[in-house]
Amino acid sequence: MLDPAQDPSLDPRSLTPDQWRSLLGPLEYAILREAATERGGTGRYLDDPGPGAFHCAGCGQALYGAAHKFHSGCGWPSFFQEVVPGALREIVDHTHGMTRTEMRCSRCDGHLGHIFADAPRTPTGMRHCVNGSAILFVAAGETVAATFARHRPAR
Ligand SMILES: [Zn+2]
Repeated sequence: MLDPAQDPSLDPRSLTPDQWRSLLGPLEYAILREAATERGGTGRYLDDPGPGAFHCAGCGQALYGAAHKFHSGCGWPSFFQEVVPGALREIVDHTHGMTRTEMRCSRCDGHLGHIFADAPRTPTGMRHCVNGSAILFVAAGETVAATFARHRPAR
């Protein structure tokens, strides 16, 4: 199966839209591949799932540790920094009449959310406002491959 989360040697940028559709749920596809936004307060991970890490739901790259998550009250999971430099790609986004900084996964170019400099009580002052459906939590002690194998849509 062509799954970059279970095959680290696979370049996710080579996947076609149909191949992504076979790996992602409809909301995951709309967010990651079409830059949609889930309705505030409805997504996964508004509560903390415990020790572990948050990975890109498209390609499986690690994006955030559980310790980088904080409660912003904005309606989406919020993080104050990525797990390692280079995990994210930032793009200036002028859509919807605003200038915002969009975040994408650096491995698969999947849309994750936006970054705002409005979190003065965090160590960085930054709020990474992430769509819950763009990320997948891998609990401490679990492997990325096994977690994604369970999560991918049944075929
Ligand atoms: Zn990715």
